[in-house]
Amino acid sequence: MPKERVGERVFVFFSESYASTTATVIFTADGTIVVDTLPFPNEARELAAFARRGGRRVAYLINTHSHLDHVAANYLFPEAELVAHARTREALAGPMRQALAQAAATFPELRDVELRLPTITLRNEGTIRHGGITVHLLHLPGHTYDAIGAYVEEERTLIAGDAVLPLPHFAGADPDSLMRTLLRLRSLSIHTIVQGHGDVILKGEVKEAIEARINYLRQVRKYVASAVAQGASLEEVQSSGVEAFGGSRLDLDGLTQQLHEANIAYLYDLYTRKEQPSALRLPAEGQQ
Ligand SMILES: [Zn+2]
Repeated sequence: MPKERVGERVFVFFSESYASTTATVIFTADGTIVVDTLPFPNEARELAAFARRGGRRVAYLINTHSHLDHVAANYLFPEAELVAHARTREALAGPMRQALAQAAATFPELRDVELRLPTITLRNEGTIRHGGITVHLLHLPGHTYDAIGAYVEEERTLIAGDAVLPLPHFAGADPDSLMRTLLRLRSLSIHTIVQGHGDVILKGEVKEAIEARINYLRQVRKYVASAVAQGASLEEVQSSGVEAFGGSRLDLDGLTQQLHEANIAYLYDLYTRKEQPSALRLPAEGQQ
């Protein structure tokens, strides 16, 4: 499985089995901190072996959100305190059990997975200080409501989970929150961003990369709102390619087009409802 060193003490693994999902290992003076666990146990075992290199212990495992591709292999780190948002724990104790059963019907390698639940939960944000490393846990909602990012202060590196993806994805959650999350990230001094899937965003590219994602969100909302106002059908609206919005099908093996279509369908549904929740109205020109 490909692995990249992105800082003094930070290494990122990329799943070869599913959508280039990332997992991150941070070496400290007293064991290891791991962020997310990859979708499938065989790859996660490789991750765990690397994290335990030289007899190290995994002190903390952080889950960025409750989606299975990030948390399925939690159970392979039984020695670690497992840290997540309180809503991640609720999801793993509830709806994700059924999601796992469904996924295991398609992927037999998931049949042995047991969903391990977080042992430490956050309602909002928090900080882990361990082995000379400071990790700020930031609430980054939008892709999901439970999303957190792990900002490693000493490395100025943000492990963002799916709050930062090659193409923003908010279907099922909240585009407004995602916009606020990205605006917040733009205001921080970050050298490196580990996305939930795909390439690491390195020093010198971070501002531009966040700007591109903000622009995508603005454009796609404007596009769907005006198409709905003109009475377009979902099929007509969805026929747009991700390239027209600054995306690329080269990212994530073309999965970005699917994410784009899911975003459009979600917005279309929101904008064609009679009662629009105020949080989802199109922002006035010049705002945000
Ligand atoms: Zn994901």
